[in-house]
Parts: sequence; C-alpha cells; structure tokens
Amino acid sequence: MAFISRHVSSLPAYLFSEFARKKQKLQEKGVDVIDLGIGAPDLSPPEFVIDKLVEELGVAENHRYSSYSGCKEFKEAVASFYQRRYQVDLDPEEEVLALIGSKEGIAHLIQAVVDPGDKVIVPDPGYPVYEKAVHLTRGEMVRLPLDASHGFLPDFNRVPIHHAEQAKLMLLNYPGNPTAATADKKAFLNAVTYAEKYHLAIANDAAYDLLTFGDYQSPSILQIPGAKDRTVEFGSLSKSFSMAGWRIGYAVGNKEIIQGLATLKSNMDTSQFLPVQKAAAAALNSDLASVEENNRIYQERMEKMHTALRELGIKAKKPRGTLFLWAEVPRGYRSMDFADKLLEESGVIVTPGSAFGEGGEGYFRIALTVPAKRLEEVIRRWKRLGIGGG
Ligand SMILES: *Cc1c(COP(=O)(O)O)cnc(C)c1O
Repeated sequence: MAFISRHVSSLPAYLFSEFARKKQKLQEKGVDVIDLGIGAPDLSPPEFVIDKLVEELGVAENHRYSSYSGCKEFKEAVASFYQRRYQVDLDPEEEVLALIGSKEGIAHLIQAVVDPGDKVIVPDPGYPVYEKAVHLTRGEMVRLPLDASHGFLPDFNRVPIHHAEQAKLMLLNYPGNPTAATADKKAFLNAVTYAEKYHLAIANDAAYDLLTFGDYQSPSILQIPGAKDRTVEFGSLSKSFSMAGWRIGYAVGNKEIIQGLATLKSNMDTSQFLPVQKAAAAALNSDLASVEENNRIYQERMEKMHTALRELGIKAKKPRGTLFLWAEVPRGYRSMDFADKLLEESGVIVTPGSAFGEGGEGYFRIALTVPAKRLEEVIRRWKRLGIGGG
C-alpha cells in the first residue's frame, strides 16, 4: 500500500514472528515447545513493589498526568541508587529522565541526537532496536564489530577512521545482549577516550546492570572521569526486578543530551503512570535483596546449561551476568539453519545470532528464562539428538 512511509515499509519483518508461527504449528501437532528465544524474565516482581503499586493506586492525585520528565520520587530514587551503587552524583532534576521502558528511550535518544545523514556507531552483534532506530532517523549505521577474540568488547581499530570522524554518537551495551559480555572500567575508559578523540556522544545501554553473578558487579560508564561531558546511560527495571510489562526505565548523565531527549519526549508522551513510577522508586531504594535472590536462580540455570553445552561439544564462554548464553553454532551450519534444526528436531526455540547483525553469524543465543526443570528437559533432548556432533 502507498500509505506507509518508505522508512517504515522498508523495515524488515520481525524475525521473532516467523518463529512464533513455527512454534504454533508445532504446538498444534502436539509438540511440547520450550521457548529459550524470549529475553524477558519469567520470575515475578518483588512483593513489596506490587504492594506499593496497589497502595499508590488508592491515592487520587496519582491518576493525574505525571510531570513530563517523571515524578520527583522516581528521579530522586534513580539519583540515590547511582550514588549508592556507583558513587556517581546526579542532579535528579537535570540529569535523570523517566522512560516508558528503556527501549522507547533508546529509540528516541537516537532521534534527539541524529540528523539525517549523521553516522552512528552501533555494536554488531547488538540489540536490534539500535540499528532500526538509526534507520528510522535516516542516520547511517557504522558497525562496531564485536568478536570473541576481544571478549566482545569494542576494538576501535576496526572502525575506519573516516567513519569515526563523521560519527556523532556511539552506542554501547554492557552487560551485553546478545553476547552476555561484561565490561570492566578499563573498557569503559577506552570508550570514553575514543569518544573524546572523535567528539562523539556515548549512550551505554545498561539494561542488565544489576543482573550479575557471584561477587561480580558491573561498573557504570559514568564512573569514568569526564564521561558525563558526553555520555548518557540507560537503565531499566524490566530485567533486574522482573517488571518488563510495567514499562519503566530511565536515562541518566549528560545534561544537554538528557534535556534534548526530554524535549523530544515531552512532545510525544506524558511519562509513565505515577503509581508505576512510585513503585519503581521503592524497588530502586530497596536493599536489592530481591535482585540477588533472582540472580542466584539465573546463575544456577546458567551453570546447568553451560555444563551441558560443554558435554555436548558446544563452545560458550561462561558469562558474569545477563539472561543469556552466547554459544557457537557447530561447524557446517549457518546460525539460522541451526536454530531451525533445534526447533524442528528438539522443539526448542533459540535465537540465531544473525538476528542481531552480521557479526552474530556463527552463534546462537540461549535465554535462561525457563525454570531449571525445563532446562533439564532441553538438555535431555539435545543429548538425545547429539546437537554438537560430539
Ligand atoms: C530488554 C532490553 C532492553 C529493553 O528494556 P525495557 O526497559 O523493557 O524497554 C533494552 N536493551 C537491551 C539490551 C535489552 O535486552
């Protein structure tokens, strides 16, 4: 039809809808399909957060519009969380913005920063929203190739200098989806130094900042001296507090960028429902015991699957966080064909690495978003099939 703009109609069909169709066909045939494709928590939000939501629902004023940038309680909770967790000072009024989920914030940030023709450095493989949002703003994507030899950390030598010179914004995502890679402060320092050299803004997507295993704690890029001159960081309650459907997240950091994003958003939305913001504030102000409890569950699942993959002869680095294992496709398969084979022959959905960009070819992503018992069933099926050829 001629009604839809070229930029929207040229967006590729969403890969996950193809899998959903196949899943349904198999289920109709009576196959017990196990879905390790979805990157959303299966656990429940903490009870005290739900209680707080219910309590705030009873307050008449909470049914009015929120202020555009989010309510005071929420922005102060974010600033206080950054102070406690990362020793980073944020002005809750000017350096914190409430988001209706960080996905919305990331897509709008790109719109707020990028003019048509501007180049944006985007991790490959990476969360598909980055590339699509650059496309929708008529920007030009420059790939930042991530590979195993660099621990899926940026290797800036692989970005042509003339592209770096023309770029305006660089996106990062640590702890990372889909690679499950984590960055230490040195990697963030390298990124900030690089961005200073080429006058780039940086946005780090920290959707998995709290979802880490054992003693490991993920740093914030804003801990790097001077980072705040050019950097914003995105956070979300979707993963760490299992609140994906609530749609609440935040952007923090550089005042100019935050205010630009706030201006754009104030013309498009009127922030999140106040009871959701206030319950999210309670979550961020908590001692994070609920997060640690959930992290132990994810870690146990991760260890179980990681051991099984090794026994199957499939290579995957043991991650320090996120909901994912990023595993190598056995020799002789394209990642799409391998994911198809796993669905057809074992009734298990995984995501082919190529869904996250060219750089994801050769890998598949396993989401640890089903109970351990179901993972054991996956492992039984994969061992019966001998999926690693080993
Ligand atoms: C899940 C996810 C998000 C989106 O989170 P919301 O706050 O629910 O919009 C953003 N970035 C990455 C890398 C994710 O995996």
